[in-house]
Amino acid sequence: MTQPVLVFAESSGSQFRKSGFEAVTEGRRLADLAGAEEYAVAIGHGLEERMIELGKYGADRVFLADDPSLALFHPDYYRHILLDAVKKHAPSIILLPATSAGKDLAPRIAIHLNTGVASDCVQLSLENGDLFATRPAYAGKVLLKVRINGTPKIATLRPNAFTAKEVSPVHSPSVEPLTFEKPETRMVVKEFAALGPKKMDLTEASIIVSGGRGMGGPENYKILEELAEVVGGIVGASRASVDAGWRPHSDQVGQTGRTVSPTLYIACGISGAIQHRVGMVNSKIIVAINKDPDAPIFGFADYGIVGDVFEVVPALTRELKKFYGK
Ligand SMILES: Cc1cc2nc3c(=O)[nH]c(=O)nc-3n(C[C@H](O)[C@H](O)[C@H](O)COP(=O)(O)OP(=O)(O)OC[C@H]3O[C@@H](n4cnc5c(N)ncnc54)[C@H](O)[C@@H]3O)c2cc1C
Repeated sequence: MTQPVLVFAESSGSQFRKSGFEAVTEGRRLADLAGAEEYAVAIGHGLEERMIELGKYGADRVFLADDPSLALFHPDYYRHILLDAVKKHAPSIILLPATSAGKDLAPRIAIHLNTGVASDCVQLSLENGDLFATRPAYAGKVLLKVRINGTPKIATLRPNAFTAKEVSPVHSPSVEPLTFEKPETRMVVKEFAALGPKKMDLTEASIIVSGGRGMGGPENYKILEELAEVVGGIVGASRASVDAGWRPHSDQVGQTGRTVSPTLYIACGISGAIQHRVGMVNSKIIVAINKDPDAPIFGFADYGIVGDVFEVVPALTRELKKFYGK
């Protein structure tokens, strides 16, 4: 039988991450093309009830390593478990999300398997049995199409560049435990501390209220935070506002920031430069507020409001508060 496609279904705090589902969806697609099965590996603690979700995205078999010591990402433990699964199931392809954990793990397992890895891929294709990956280089100025040599072929997938899609009918894989024996390690993971007060990751938010140079200064982001709070979203930023020191780099959307695909993206005082656009153009609905009717962002926004953010945003917040009864 054709060797399976193996996917690391990343989780965080006993929930799968959206990027994990995106990887499982892409793994399903490649497995179908290769006539192979898809195996998903979950590592963490308290995930048992959630394993069924991996079947929704097409996994044929799901494997779980569950242990309190795996609740937080530990590079050596996670590598050890993944390598164990690889040894047992000999996959032809291994996919991981290009998150901090995925980007850490992929080269760790690649070096042990003496094989190639393509990182931060935005597209994958199977051509005559070869796996090709498209990935940005030189800060996104060019896209490279590379062939991944060696076996298995390893790729990390840029979050939000692939869409998580449920299969129909959903698969109902049984949950197969992976034994976990702690390997020798000199690494101790004590805690993960968030960089700021933000609770949600920008790449996983379903509503983003983003501000650009048009916000005029860091103090004015307050009106975006108020709007974001009413609609249950979080605040993002353009590079101009990050470079100005108004917002942290973790807020930056675009080519050299995060790629996002929320249900709703509200761009306030952002011109819509190509480098910003590539990071948010996959949003389902884009609303742009800009006082310049010729701003490029109106060329690809679904709804455009020509006006001053300092009038439009507070008015929008007021009306939405009434609408939600807040
Ligand atoms: C290699 C490279 C990588 C880059 N990566 C990124 C990236 O990841 N992300 C990114 O965003 N950019 C990136 N850039 C920068 C990008 O080219 C733009 O310079 C940047 O996106 C502009 O940010 P902005 O839209 O906030 O500012 P501007 O282009 O200055 O636009 C400000 C907008 O605000 C409007 N405005 C002003 N005042 C108001 C008001 N009161 N009410 C309403 N509207 C108002 C103006 O009409 C204008 O359209 C990159 C550039 C390079 C060269």
